[in-house]
Amino acid sequence: MPVTRFAPSPSGRLHLGHAFSAAMAADAGGGSYRLRIDDLDPARSREEFVDGIFEDLRWLGLDWSGEVMRESERLARYDAALETLKADRLVYPCFCTRADIAAVLSAPHGDPGHQYPGTCRGLPDDPGRRASSPHSWRLDHRRALERIGLPSWTERDGRHFSATPDQLGDAILARKDAPSSYHLACVLDDADQGVEMVVRGADLRPSTPIQRLLQHLLGLPEPTYFHHELVGHADGRRLAKRDQAPTLAAMRADGVDGPALAASLTARSLPLGFAFIAPT
Ligand code: GLU
Repeated sequence: MPVTRFAPSPSGRLHLGHAFSAAMAADAGGGSYRLRIDDLDPARSREEFVDGIFEDLRWLGLDWSGEVMRESERLARYDAALETLKADRLVYPCFCTRADIAAVLSAPHGDPGHQYPGTCRGLPDDPGRRASSPHSWRLDHRRALERIGLPSWTERDGRHFSATPDQLGDAILARKDAPSSYHLACVLDDADQGVEMVVRGADLRPSTPIQRLLQHLLGLPEPTYFHHELVGHADGRRLAKRDQAPTLAAMRADGVDGPALAASLTARSLPLGFAFIAPT
């Protein structure tokens, strides 16, 4: 059985969609999975939600194996990887604000298909400006593609996906306000936890091309992917806090049996009022 993982962000209490993801990770992993807390963003992460994650998973009876990994404790690891990419000239500093980017993209020749118009790509290196102005670091994805070609990946069901150039862009790898970004942290964490199958919702499939590219560039092993269907309300709405998605804590307070719920989720059976949103 492959080593799988569940990687919630502690920005709120877990809901049924998280329980389904953890159940899928446990099932695909032969009963257990590695747990990672995505607490890279200090503005959104709260310690009480970290405690809530442990509490909810224990209530479900979905036990993880090994040490819990916390992204907030791994900043030096992310920074070292960024330095490697800098030395290889695969990243460049970007001084653009959101407003700068929006202005270029809305100009007549702007390319709305790409998230970032490349304004700072190819600027001469200016250590003085870097020392005095806030900046992020972006992947030079064209240079990366020249080096390794278009990345591809395999899903659990055997389907093979090849990335297309329009799925890639100059993603931010280190933010102005945080030393890493989701993509860089995620690939390093998965590799360091020995994850062989990345289990997550189909809404994160668009992150896979850039993450596969980073795995190549950093010499990390290739996992397989299991992008599972999302859980929604029966009327088609996504589960979100603003839609009053019931939290697992509320279900527990209502007397729901945690292990029985986990068993039915593993069998892909949802409680009344919920339905799967088919993966794309
Ligand atoms: N922390 C992300 C989330 O809660 C998941 C990241 C991942 O699975 O790659 O949506």
